[in-house]
Amino acid sequence: MTAIRIDGKAMAEQVRADVATGVAELKATHGVTPGLAVVLVGEDPASEVYVRNKIKQTEACGMTSFHHVLSKDTTRESLLRLIRSLNEDPEVHGILVQLPLPGHLDAKDVIESIDPAKDVDGFHTANVGELWTEGQPFVPCTPLGCLKLLKSVCPDIAGKHAVVIGRSNIVGRPMAALLLNESATVTIAHSKTDDLPGLCRQADILVAAVGRPQMVKADWIKPGAVVLDVGINRIEDDAGQSKLVGDVDFDAALSVAGAVTPVPGGPGPMTIACLLANTLEAAKRSVA
Ligand code: NAD
Repeated sequence: MTAIRIDGKAMAEQVRADVATGVAELKATHGVTPGLAVVLVGEDPASEVYVRNKIKQTEACGMTSFHHVLSKDTTRESLLRLIRSLNEDPEVHGILVQLPLPGHLDAKDVIESIDPAKDVDGFHTANVGELWTEGQPFVPCTPLGCLKLLKSVCPDIAGKHAVVIGRSNIVGRPMAALLLNESATVTIAHSKTDDLPGLCRQADILVAAVGRPQMVKADWIKPGAVVLDVGINRIEDDAGQSKLVGDVDFDAALSVAGAVTPVPGGPGPMTIACLLANTLEAAKRSVA
């Protein structure tokens, strides 16, 4: 069997095109331009690249991008003051504070200060609660992107056994909630799970969100399963060149799975696309 290679780059392009159409409609009908504010504290090079990408893609969709860079020594008070002003700014519909934050700032404390109606990352406990109670959440962008990728090859998720490896607040837990809301039978695995390979072999849908290069081997995968690989790991190849790989042994998985996402080019590109979709949704809700 050769698995379908799920193309996250192509689907992200489609999501961005749909967002651009939605933005143009909102401008035409309500005179509202969706605005996304990104707050970066400190000088983490990986975060800077990611933030630059966000700004470029936000503007390409016709939205306004507000960019705030604060020094790594910024106090809790001045960060919360900025967030309060963004909460009150009618031109800002989405607020994203880039994580990780410098050690003296508590991410939970900062996230809780964001107006849940502008929490387009979906990390505020109000949105987490909405997600787990089948309400109207903003859903964290990476799991939301994974669900869209999954539906492209597996429209009928109900009754399937989904195993999610990883229980982080950013990926594993919200992914499990989304799958549960689609009526999958969900198992959450983590670092203390016994017989992880045996558990994974029972999965019709396998999501790997761990951060361990190529941990999931071909013989962990049920023949025909859909495998979503969220992991992003940098390793050295045999020639000593640095390259990105996921948590799944992709080449081996191709011979067993029904469909599998590559790294790069899987859930990664979908994350920013879903952030833009969430920002458009926040702007629409603001005029509803
Ligand atoms: P995290 O470190 O917060 O969580 C990792 C999880 O893996 C934990 O819940 C832990 O219990 C589990 N785990 C660790 N070792 C394990 C083991 N041996 N067996 C089973 N479970 C184990 O990480 P995260 O933020 O959830 O990110 C996970 C991966 O996804 C990372 O590689 C990260 O870079 C990537 N990521 C990608 C995107 C994207 O846009 N594609 C977004 C977020 C995270």
